[in-house]
Amino acid sequence: MTDRPTQNRPLSPATLAVAGGRPTRDQGAPVNPPVVLSSTYASTGDPAGSLMYARYDTETWHPLEATLAELEGASLSGLVFSSGMGAIDAALRLAEPGTAIVAPRHAYLASLTAAREQAAREQSVVREVDIADTEAVVAALAPAEGPAGSLLWIESPTNPLLEVADIPALAAAAHRVGAVCVVDNTFATPLLQRPLAQGADVVVHSVTKHLAGHSDLVMGAAVTSDGDLRARLHARRTVGGAIPGPFETWLALRGLRTLALRVERAQHNALELARRLADHPSVAEVVHPGLSSHPQHARAAELMDGFGSILTLRPSGGVGHADAVTRAVRLWLPATSLGGVESSMERRRRLGAEAVSVPEDLLRLSVGIEDVEDLWADLDHALRAWPT
Ligand SMILES: *Cc1c(COP(=O)(O)O)cnc(C)c1O
Repeated sequence: MTDRPTQNRPLSPATLAVAGGRPTRDQGAPVNPPVVLSSTYASTGDPAGSLMYARYDTETWHPLEATLAELEGASLSGLVFSSGMGAIDAALRLAEPGTAIVAPRHAYLASLTAAREQAAREQSVVREVDIADTEAVVAALAPAEGPAGSLLWIESPTNPLLEVADIPALAAAAHRVGAVCVVDNTFATPLLQRPLAQGADVVVHSVTKHLAGHSDLVMGAAVTSDGDLRARLHARRTVGGAIPGPFETWLALRGLRTLALRVERAQHNALELARRLADHPSVAEVVHPGLSSHPQHARAAELMDGFGSILTLRPSGGVGHADAVTRAVRLWLPATSLGGVESSMERRRRLGAEAVSVPEDLLRLSVGIEDVEDLWADLDHALRAWPT
C-alpha cells in the first residue's frame, strides 16, 4: 500500500507509525486514507478475494491493520476489533477445551474474567501465576497433575503491579508443550516491546490506550504471523461481530501517527516523576520498571526499548491518603484507563474485582505528555495535603 524509499535497513517503529498505511502516491492521491461508509459491496458469484460485506472485511480497516502489523513485525496484516476485549476474547478462544490457560494473576481484570468464564464453559482451568517467575510459569504449563496448558497468556508489564515477564523464555516453554503464546502488549506498545520477535505467536492490544492515545475511542487489535491462528481470529471476529466502525478506525490511525513522540515524552516524564517520588516524604513506595529498585529492572532493560509511562505509588498515609490524593489533584485526571496524552490516576482497589494481592492504597498513575514540572507540582501538592 505504501511506497517505501529503497534502503537496505528496516524502518524503525517510530517511522512506521508515520509512514504506514498511506495511499499509493499516484498523481493527486490524498496523503491520508479515505473513510468508506458502506455496509455492502457489489458482488456476484464466488466473492473470494473481493470485498463483500463490511462485517467480514472493509477497506477502512486496512491501513491501520497494515501499520499495526508492521509495527509488531508481523508478516500478515493485523486484525482490528471493536475493543481490546473483543481482540482478547478472540485470542482466548485459541485455547483448546479441557486444557489449562496459564495467565498472570495480575493481568487486566476483564481478561482474567473472560478466561475464567471460558474455562468454566469448556471444562478447562485457568492457572494464575506470577508471570515474572519464569520457573513457576514453566511448571504451570506442564504440571505433574492436571491438564497441560494449551494457551499461555502473558501481560508484561502487568496491570497494575508492573511485573516484567521473560517473554523469550516463556514463549519457548509454551512451544515445548505445544501451547500458543499470546502477549497483551498494551502497556509497552510495539515501540518499546515486540513480542513476536521474542517468540510469541499472537500480540493483542487495547488500541484504546497508547496506540490511539487521546482517550477518545475504544478499539482493539490482534496481530500474528501465523496464517492458521490469523484465520481463527478472523473467523471469531466475523462470527462474534466485534468490529470497529470506520470513523473510529480512521481516528485510531490518526492518533497512532504521533505514537513515538507521545511515548518518548510520557516515559521520560514517568521516569523523572518516579525518581522524585522515591524520595518524597509522603510516599511509602513507588514502582516503575525504570527504577533500579524494581525487581525486574535488569530484565526490562534487556528485553525492552524503554520502561513505559505507567508507575504506581503508595502514599504513606494508607487508603485514606490515597483517596485524598485523587481528590486533591487539579491537573491529573482521577479516572480509570491509561495511555492518553493527559496524565491520570486511579486507586485500583476501589474496584471490588481487583486482585486482593494488589495493595489497597496503591495508586496507578498513567503519565501523559504535559510539562513534567506542572505534573510534579500538582502531585507534590496533593500528596502533602494530608492529613488536612
Ligand atoms: C484497557 C486494557 C484492556 C481492555 O481493552 P478495552 O479497549 O478497554 O476493551 C486489555 N488489556 C490491557 C492491559 C488494558 O489496559
